[in-house]
Amino acid sequence: MRDPDDELAELEAGQLRRSLRRIDSPQEVEVRWEGRDYLNFSSNDYLGLATDERSKAALIEGVERYGAGSGASRLICGTLAPHADLEETLAGFKRTEAALTFSSGYATAVGTLSALAGKDDAIILDKLCHASLIDGARLSGATLRVYPHNDLDKLASHLAWARRKIDTEAGRILVVTESVFSMDGDRAPLEAILDLKEQHGAWLLLDEAHAFGVLGRTGRGLAEAIGIEDGRVDLQMGTLSKAAGLSGGYLCASRSVIDLLINRARSFIYSTAPPPAIAHAAREAVDRIRGEEGSVLRERLWENVALLETALGVKAESAIVPVILGENEAALSAAESMREAGFLVPAIRYPTVPRGQARLRVTLSAGHRTTDVERLVASGKKAGIFLP
Ligand SMILES: *Cc1c(COP(=O)(O)O)cnc(C)c1O
Repeated sequence: MRDPDDELAELEAGQLRRSLRRIDSPQEVEVRWEGRDYLNFSSNDYLGLATDERSKAALIEGVERYGAGSGASRLICGTLAPHADLEETLAGFKRTEAALTFSSGYATAVGTLSALAGKDDAIILDKLCHASLIDGARLSGATLRVYPHNDLDKLASHLAWARRKIDTEAGRILVVTESVFSMDGDRAPLEAILDLKEQHGAWLLLDEAHAFGVLGRTGRGLAEAIGIEDGRVDLQMGTLSKAAGLSGGYLCASRSVIDLLINRARSFIYSTAPPPAIAHAAREAVDRIRGEEGSVLRERLWENVALLETALGVKAESAIVPVILGENEAALSAAESMREAGFLVPAIRYPTVPRGQARLRVTLSAGHRTTDVERLVASGKKAGIFLP
């Protein structure tokens, strides 16, 4: 039988082997690793809510009110009040009829796509879609088409193809994209995509993982940021693990889509409900995100983004700023230099990004102080990684 060590050696040879790094502190702006403190530019905790006092207090309060575990899947044991309250809050915030939460964003994507599409349907995805969306699309058994990143002409021609091929009375055509792309930090041309999917009678699933809490006046995401009616996005997906600082995923949609998911989404049905305390804390996080405090945190975050933009001479469309270096070795050695200088900035390689586009991925948070960003820039320039 194939020896796992041979496979690991192959990964090693291609500089593609990964390993886990043990952090001995909370996942904060400053983290402790192997006895040394580092400034952390690798987290998706965009608003700094993962470790703040109110988040911790809400989680503790949730445990005291509802206990530690949830007992079983929600269809078996009954839905606990905090899950129902969170879904009502999310639907209200996203202005949809209903919402369903899952144990992760990954489970949301896989469960939703495989429940809503099947062999008589088509799913059209942006080339840079997250692995969870690709996995869900594959699992569905639908016919898949992929368009080059943000390429509207190719999307239009795939839509025209799907309309000829799919019986639009009985079948479904789903377009899938992210609002902010996770490894490039750029945005999808949402308005044009909506126009196209409407022309062709398709639905849009928009994954707002990196936009929720970050974009828009109240943090609702890309549609709010560009002044588009949220209702035009049929399936609004996101995660509670990034800006909300916790864990879990959500899908906001019409009441009938949500009811269908409750009946068909296997990652929802056959998985124990997340701890009720997480749902309790997530509801509070959503309220904070949409309120005055969220606005203040977003302002802080965008100040940090602007600072890095100016220093690097780039245009950033989100809290994710990639520094593309090309070969795996270049990205790994850049990450190592930054580590020596006291910064955690991850090297991202294939298969997370295409071959030859290995990079450092800098993520900013409202928790970073101005001096943290300035220090990062100075060290990156000194190491020759950021162009002067
Ligand atoms: C992180 C991420 C997910 C998965 O969310 P989790 O809650 O971490 O499982 C899905 N889609 C995108 C675009 C992501 O970046």
